[in-house]
Amino acid sequence: MDQTARIIGHAEKEGRKVLLEPEAKAICLEYGIPVTKFKVASTSEEAAKDAGQIGYPVVLKIVSPDIIHKSDAGGVVVNLNNGSEVREAYQKILDNVKRYNSKAKIVGVLVQEMAPQSTEVIVGAIKDPQFGQTIMFGLGGIFVEVLKDVNFRIAPLSSEDAKEMITELKAYPLLKGFRNTPPADIDALTHILCSTSKLVMDNPKIKELDLNPIMAYQKGAKTVDARIILE
Ligand code: ADP
Ligand code: MG
Repeated sequence: MDQTARIIGHAEKEGRKVLLEPEAKAICLEYGIPVTKFKVASTSEEAAKDAGQIGYPVVLKIVSPDIIHKSDAGGVVVNLNNGSEVREAYQKILDNVKRYNSKAKIVGVLVQEMAPQSTEVIVGAIKDPQFGQTIMFGLGGIFVEVLKDVNFRIAPLSSEDAKEMITELKAYPLLKGFRNTPPADIDALTHILCSTSKLVMDNPKIKELDLNPIMAYQKGAKTVDARIILE
Protein backbone atom coordinates (compact mmCIF):
# COMPACT_ATOMS: atom_id res chain seq x y z
CA MET A 1 0.00 0.00 0.00
CA ASP A 2 2.73 2.41 -1.15
CA GLN A 3 0.43 5.19 -2.31
CA THR A 4 -1.29 5.39 1.11
CA ALA A 5 1.98 5.60 3.03
CA ARG A 6 3.26 8.23 0.60
CA ILE A 7 0.13 10.38 0.93
CA ILE A 8 0.13 10.21 4.74
CA GLY A 9 3.86 10.97 4.84
CA HIS A 10 3.41 13.95 2.52
CA ALA A 11 0.61 15.41 4.69
CA GLU A 12 2.69 14.97 7.83
CA LYS A 13 5.64 16.71 6.20
CA GLU A 14 3.38 19.65 5.39
CA GLY A 15 2.06 19.63 8.97
CA ARG A 16 -1.48 18.77 7.85
CA LYS A 17 -3.86 16.63 9.91
CA VAL A 18 -6.71 16.67 7.40
CA LEU A 19 -6.15 14.93 4.08
CA LEU A 20 -7.49 16.61 0.94
CA GLU A 21 -10.43 14.89 -0.77
CA PRO A 22 -8.32 13.64 -3.72
CA GLU A 23 -5.77 12.25 -1.22
CA ALA A 24 -8.45 10.49 0.83
CA LYS A 25 -10.03 9.09 -2.35
CA ALA A 26 -6.69 7.87 -3.71
CA ILE A 27 -6.22 5.96 -0.43
CA CYS A 28 -9.75 4.52 -0.73
CA LEU A 29 -8.98 3.37 -4.27
CA GLU A 30 -5.82 1.62 -3.15
CA TYR A 31 -7.96 -0.35 -0.69
CA GLY A 32 -10.58 -1.22 -3.29
CA ILE A 33 -13.23 1.20 -2.02
CA PRO A 34 -15.12 2.57 -5.04
CA VAL A 35 -15.03 6.37 -5.42
CA THR A 36 -16.20 8.80 -8.11
CA LYS A 37 -13.63 9.20 -10.93
CA PHE A 38 -11.64 12.38 -10.33
CA LYS A 39 -8.81 14.64 -11.48
CA VAL A 40 -7.32 17.80 -9.99
CA ALA A 41 -7.16 20.83 -12.31
CA SER A 42 -5.21 24.06 -11.88
CA THR A 43 -6.81 26.09 -14.68
CA SER A 44 -10.36 26.35 -16.03
CA GLU A 45 -9.14 25.00 -19.40
CA GLU A 46 -7.60 21.97 -17.72
CA ALA A 47 -10.85 21.45 -15.76
CA ALA A 48 -12.87 21.41 -18.98
CA LYS A 49 -10.42 18.96 -20.55
CA ASP A 50 -10.57 16.70 -17.48
CA ALA A 51 -14.38 16.84 -17.52
CA GLY A 52 -14.39 15.69 -21.16
CA GLN A 53 -12.22 12.71 -20.23
CA ILE A 54 -14.26 11.81 -17.13
CA GLY A 55 -17.59 12.21 -18.94
CA TYR A 56 -20.50 14.56 -18.23
CA PRO A 57 -22.20 15.45 -15.96
CA VAL A 58 -19.43 16.42 -13.54
CA VAL A 59 -19.06 18.09 -10.14
CA LEU A 60 -16.37 20.67 -9.32
CA LYS A 61 -15.01 21.13 -5.79
CA ILE A 62 -12.39 23.29 -4.14
CA VAL A 63 -9.21 21.56 -2.99
CA SER A 64 -7.74 23.51 -0.09
CA PRO A 65 -6.21 22.50 3.24
CA ASP A 66 -7.95 25.55 4.75
CA ILE A 67 -11.48 24.59 3.62
CA ILE A 68 -12.83 21.58 5.50
CA HIS A 69 -16.54 21.98 4.72
CA LYS A 70 -16.41 22.70 1.03
CA SER A 71 -20.07 23.56 0.44
CA ASP A 72 -20.08 26.07 3.32
CA ALA A 73 -17.46 28.00 1.37
CA GLY A 74 -19.39 27.85 -1.92
CA GLY A 75 -16.76 25.37 -3.01
CA VAL A 76 -19.00 22.70 -4.60
CA VAL A 77 -20.91 23.00 -7.89
CA VAL A 78 -22.83 19.95 -9.12
CA ASN A 79 -24.43 18.93 -12.40
CA LEU A 80 -22.18 20.59 -14.98
CA ASN A 81 -22.97 19.43 -18.50
CA ASN A 82 -20.45 21.00 -20.87
CA GLY A 83 -17.10 22.78 -21.13
CA SER A 84 -18.44 26.29 -20.77
CA GLU A 85 -20.41 25.37 -17.63
CA VAL A 86 -17.23 23.84 -16.21
CA ARG A 87 -15.09 26.92 -16.96
CA GLU A 88 -17.71 29.17 -15.41
CA ALA A 89 -18.06 27.00 -12.29
CA TYR A 90 -14.27 26.88 -11.92
CA GLN A 91 -14.11 30.66 -11.69
CA LYS A 92 -17.17 30.87 -9.45
CA ILE A 93 -15.66 28.42 -6.96
CA LEU A 94 -12.41 30.39 -6.77
CA ASP A 95 -14.36 33.65 -6.26
CA ASN A 96 -16.59 32.12 -3.57
CA VAL A 97 -13.67 30.63 -1.69
CA LYS A 98 -11.66 33.85 -1.85
CA ARG A 99 -14.63 35.72 -0.39
CA TYR A 100 -15.09 33.05 2.31
CA ASN A 101 -11.44 32.98 3.37
CA SER A 102 -9.06 35.31 1.56
CA LYS A 103 -6.04 33.48 3.06
CA ALA A 104 -7.10 29.99 2.00
CA LYS A 105 -4.35 28.15 0.16
CA ILE A 106 -5.75 26.80 -3.12
CA VAL A 107 -4.30 23.49 -4.31
CA GLY A 108 -6.63 23.24 -7.30
CA VAL A 109 -10.16 22.29 -8.28
CA LEU A 110 -11.36 18.71 -8.19
CA VAL A 111 -13.27 17.60 -11.28
CA GLN A 112 -15.29 14.48 -10.65
CA GLU A 113 -17.90 12.21 -12.08
CA MET A 114 -21.37 13.09 -10.82
CA ALA A 115 -22.81 10.05 -9.03
CA PRO A 116 -26.51 9.46 -9.80
CA GLN A 117 -28.75 9.98 -6.76
CA SER A 118 -29.60 6.83 -4.81
CA THR A 119 -29.93 5.61 -1.23
CA GLU A 120 -27.15 7.30 0.74
CA VAL A 121 -25.15 5.40 3.34
CA ILE A 122 -22.31 6.45 5.61
CA VAL A 123 -19.21 4.54 6.63
CA GLY A 124 -17.06 5.98 9.37
CA ALA A 125 -14.07 5.00 11.45
CA ILE A 126 -12.89 6.49 14.69
CA LYS A 127 -9.90 5.57 16.81
CA ASP A 128 -11.31 5.02 20.26
CA PRO A 129 -8.73 5.59 23.04
CA GLN A 130 -9.90 2.39 24.74
CA PHE A 131 -11.03 0.05 21.95
CA GLY A 132 -8.87 1.25 19.07
CA GLN A 133 -10.13 1.51 15.48
CA THR A 134 -13.92 1.31 15.45
CA ILE A 135 -16.11 1.17 12.35
CA MET A 136 -19.53 2.82 11.97
CA PHE A 137 -22.29 2.19 9.43
CA GLY A 138 -25.61 3.93 8.89
CA LEU A 139 -27.95 5.42 6.32
CA GLY A 140 -27.43 9.06 5.35
CA GLY A 141 -29.40 12.15 6.33
CA ILE A 142 -32.06 11.93 9.05
CA PHE A 143 -31.25 8.29 9.81
CA VAL A 144 -27.92 9.23 11.34
CA GLU A 145 -28.59 12.79 12.46
CA VAL A 146 -32.10 12.47 13.92
CA LEU A 147 -32.75 8.78 14.51
CA LYS A 148 -29.15 7.81 15.48
CA ASP A 149 -29.74 4.55 13.63
CA VAL A 150 -26.09 3.52 13.36
CA ASN A 151 -24.07 0.43 14.21
CA PHE A 152 -20.53 0.25 15.54
CA ARG A 153 -18.04 -2.64 15.60
CA ILE A 154 -14.46 -2.75 16.75
CA ALA A 155 -12.02 -3.45 13.89
CA PRO A 156 -10.85 -5.72 12.39
CA LEU A 157 -14.18 -6.77 10.90
CA SER A 158 -14.96 -10.18 9.48
CA SER A 159 -17.43 -10.19 6.59
CA GLU A 160 -20.01 -11.62 9.03
CA ASP A 161 -19.45 -8.62 11.33
CA ALA A 162 -19.81 -6.25 8.39
CA LYS A 163 -22.99 -7.91 7.18
CA GLU A 164 -24.51 -7.72 10.68
CA MET A 165 -23.71 -4.01 10.90
CA ILE A 166 -25.91 -3.59 7.83
CA THR A 167 -28.72 -6.06 8.51
CA GLU A 168 -29.15 -5.02 12.18
CA LEU A 169 -29.98 -1.42 11.29
CA LYS A 170 -33.57 -0.40 11.96
CA ALA A 171 -33.60 1.06 8.47
CA TYR A 172 -32.37 -2.21 6.89
CA PRO A 173 -35.75 -2.80 5.17
CA LEU A 174 -35.01 0.33 3.11
CA LEU A 175 -31.75 -1.21 1.91
CA LYS A 176 -33.55 -4.44 1.03
CA GLY A 177 -35.84 -2.42 -1.22
CA PHE A 178 -39.06 -0.72 -0.27
CA ARG A 179 -41.80 0.76 -2.49
CA ASN A 180 -39.95 3.24 -4.74
CA THR A 181 -36.54 2.44 -3.30
CA PRO A 182 -34.74 -0.31 -5.24
CA PRO A 183 -32.68 -2.85 -3.23
CA ALA A 184 -29.08 -1.87 -2.49
CA ASP A 185 -26.09 -4.10 -3.27
CA ILE A 186 -25.46 -5.45 0.24
CA ASP A 187 -22.34 -7.35 -0.87
CA ALA A 188 -20.80 -4.15 -2.22
CA LEU A 189 -21.49 -2.37 1.09
CA THR A 190 -20.09 -5.33 3.06
CA HIS A 191 -16.96 -5.14 0.94
CA ILE A 192 -16.59 -1.39 1.62
CA LEU A 193 -16.89 -2.00 5.38
CA CYS A 194 -14.24 -4.75 5.31
CA SER A 195 -11.91 -2.64 3.16
CA THR A 196 -12.34 0.34 5.50
CA SER A 197 -11.50 -1.92 8.42
CA LYS A 198 -8.30 -3.07 6.70
CA LEU A 199 -7.44 0.51 5.75
CA VAL A 200 -7.58 1.83 9.33
CA MET A 201 -5.95 -1.27 10.84
CA ASP A 202 -3.02 -0.92 8.41
CA ASN A 203 -2.73 2.80 9.15
CA PRO A 204 -2.85 3.47 12.89
CA LYS A 205 -2.07 7.15 12.28
CA ILE A 206 -5.63 7.59 11.00
CA LYS A 207 -7.74 9.09 13.78
CA GLU A 208 -10.97 9.54 11.85
CA LEU A 209 -12.36 8.49 8.50
CA ASP A 210 -15.65 9.56 7.01
CA LEU A 211 -17.11 8.27 3.73
CA ASN A 212 -20.20 10.44 3.55
CA PRO A 213 -22.20 10.01 1.46
CA ILE A 214 -21.77 6.70 -0.33
CA MET A 215 -24.41 6.17 -3.01
CA ALA A 216 -25.72 2.60 -2.72
CA TYR A 217 -26.88 1.20 -6.05
CA GLN A 218 -28.61 -1.99 -7.10
CA LYS A 219 -25.25 -2.98 -8.47
CA GLY A 220 -22.22 -1.51 -6.68
CA ALA A 221 -21.79 1.66 -4.69
CA LYS A 222 -19.80 4.89 -5.02
CA THR A 223 -18.15 7.16 -2.44
CA VAL A 224 -18.97 10.80 -3.19
CA ASP A 225 -17.06 12.53 -0.37
CA ALA A 226 -14.18 11.17 1.72
CA ARG A 227 -12.45 12.73 4.70
CA ILE A 228 -9.48 11.32 6.58
CA ILE A 229 -8.01 12.95 9.69
CA LEU A 230 -4.62 11.99 11.11
CA GLU A 231 -3.58 11.95 14.77
P1 ADP B 1 -18.60 19.00 1.85
O1 ADP B 1 -19.16 17.89 2.70
O2 ADP B 1 -17.15 19.25 2.12
O3 ADP B 1 -19.41 20.25 1.91
P2 ADP B 1 -19.19 17.25 -0.44
O4 ADP B 1 -18.09 16.73 -1.27
O5 ADP B 1 -19.83 16.30 0.50
O6 ADP B 1 -18.65 18.56 0.32
O7 ADP B 1 -20.30 17.86 -1.41
C1 ADP B 1 -21.51 18.37 -0.89
C2 ADP B 1 -22.69 17.61 -1.45
O8 ADP B 1 -22.72 17.72 -2.88
C3 ADP B 1 -22.68 16.10 -1.18
O9 ADP B 1 -23.19 15.77 0.07
C4 ADP B 1 -23.52 15.56 -2.33
O10 ADP B 1 -24.89 15.73 -2.04
C5 ADP B 1 -23.15 16.50 -3.47
N1 ADP B 1 -22.04 15.92 -4.26
C6 ADP B 1 -20.72 16.13 -4.07
N2 ADP B 1 -19.98 15.43 -4.95
C7 ADP B 1 -20.85 14.73 -5.70
C8 ADP B 1 -20.69 13.81 -6.79
N3 ADP B 1 -19.50 13.46 -7.28
N4 ADP B 1 -21.83 13.27 -7.32
C9 ADP B 1 -23.05 13.61 -6.85
N5 ADP B 1 -23.26 14.47 -5.83
C10 ADP B 1 -22.17 15.04 -5.27
MG1 MG C 1 -19.57 15.92 2.52
